[in-house]
Amino acid sequence: MKYKIEIERSGCIACGMCYTVDSVHFEPDDEGKSTVKGGETDTYGSIGVFNDEKIEKARNAEDSCPVSIIIVTEQ
Ligand code: SF4
Repeated sequence: MKYKIEIERSGCIACGMCYTVDSVHFEPDDEGKSTVKGGETDTYGSIGVFNDEKIEKARNAEDSCPVSIIIVTEQ
């Protein structure tokens, strides 16, 4: 399954929920703000495309974000 993960990083409050729930797809930067592992990241966003069976983990992280800035979409 191919899916895309996006983080609107400008709104990230560095709470740590997403990369605690799903360390496969998410990791913190130096400030604790979330990035997509292996993705393309700048100040405002981070985006990565995956092709495996682990979308449920990403969906759990999406649900865990208290400010709803993680978007997971099937491709
Ligand atoms: S759960 Fe949301 S606010 Fe918290 S670190 Fe992850 S992206 Fe940032």
